Amino acid sequence: MNALAATNRNFRKAARILGIDSKIEKSLMIPFREIKVECTIPKDDGTLVSYVGFRVQHDNSRGPMKGGIRYHPEILGKFSVKVEPDEVNALAQLMTWKTAVADIPYGGAKGGIGCSPKDLSFSELERLTRVFTQKIHDLIGVNTDVPAPDMGTNAQTMAWILDEYSKFHGYSPAVVTGKPIDLGGSLGRDAATGRGVVYATEALLAEHGKSVKGLTFAIQGFGNVGSWAAKLFHERGGKVVAVSDITGAVRNPNGIDIHALLQHKEATGKLADFSGADVMDSNDLLTQECDVLVPCALGGVLNRENAGDVRAKFVVEAANHPTDPDADEILSKKGVVILPDIYANAGGVTVSYFEWVQNIQGFMWDEDKVNAELKRYMTKAFHNIKGMCQSHDCNLRMGAFTLGVNRVARATLLRGWEA
Ligand code: NAD
Repeated sequence: MNALAATNRNFRKAARILGIDSKIEKSLMIPFREIKVECTIPKDDGTLVSYVGFRVQHDNSRGPMKGGIRYHPEILGKFSVKVEPDEVNALAQLMTWKTAVADIPYGGAKGGIGCSPKDLSFSELERLTRVFTQKIHDLIGVNTDVPAPDMGTNAQTMAWILDEYSKFHGYSPAVVTGKPIDLGGSLGRDAATGRGVVYATEALLAEHGKSVKGLTFAIQGFGNVGSWAAKLFHERGGKVVAVSDITGAVRNPNGIDIHALLQHKEATGKLADFSGADVMDSNDLLTQECDVLVPCALGGVLNRENAGDVRAKFVVEAANHPTDPDADEILSKKGVVILPDIYANAGGVTVSYFEWVQNIQGFMWDEDKVNAELKRYMTKAFHNIKGMCQSHDCNLRMGAFTLGVNRVARATLLRGWEA
């Protein structure tokens, strides 16, 4: 089942639990707007090249739409599929429910350009980003739609969008988040998703009378989210017993010194040959003996083939959509508690919201304030999800979906339908 089919299934199930009218349900599923634009730029050698840029704006009933801009060659293919639902729509819709779960005043969006950023020079990327911004500047904005970095884009991309957008609308730092700190980016944004994962895990463990200290963790993915989560679990006395990335995997049942592993990875570019852990088969990471399994890399990694072998008691979905619906069912039957992605990885968008607030206030927060507010939001959202689980006798994934969908449906109804 692809990401959109799974998202739609969860949404429909939540809508049924909540007793949402079928006409409202339909209106909540259809994206508010889909934008597709041609972006032609001269390459450095003077030849012209054309790309397709797009933005799916899913829902704005709770506030400006919010979501990443992705530069990836496969996006165009997926976006062109007319009959089959596409991944970008799923991701835009997920952002609507995720921002509602976190209770930040946003809707959901997603977009990008069908290009291979590694094949473009720095100046070609700048030209492409500026042309894309020229084409969509009337449809994004501080109170309309606020993009952020995603796969293939970064703080520099956001700086170009900010600059190009500001030529049309005046200086507008709040039009994008994930900016460089020098242009109004927030302190703590880099760590925010991983830190949010740790706060979410702490809230879950507390509910079960446990804490991070002394528990064992296996972490798939050692990029932005995985490395921050690993570091913070380690600093709180958790034992990270296995870590993997695209280069391989390592394990140490007594706990890996994550600071030392990060230094080793930075120096050598790989996890292997680290003196503080043994090399293991990456395929075994997900079925490693541990208390908490944290997928921080790809979607669909837990599936029918491997879910039965998972030995963790808790799965914290730091990646988007790491557990397919078959695995969800198998793990639930085994009694594994799953903390769903639309909550567990919401720390990034929550600190993006803080960045937007700081830009609008014209007042920078210090990092302690950012982290304290993030903890408050993540903890509150967990208790709100638990409340829905109790009211509707459902698991945490459905608790999160019913919480998000209910908030969006209420806002939609309150705003009314008069044209
Ligand atoms: P990243 O590119 O920084 O890191 C990805 C990591 O996954 C890398 O260490 C890479 O080596 C590893 N990886 C890739 N293929 C792998 C494989 N087959 N086996 C093991 N490891 C593999 O990305 P990120 O920003 O850390 O994002 C990770 C996940 O979290 C993604 O699913 C992303 O959508 C999700 N997410 C990220 C953010 C954020 O703010 N960065 C926010 C919400 C959700």
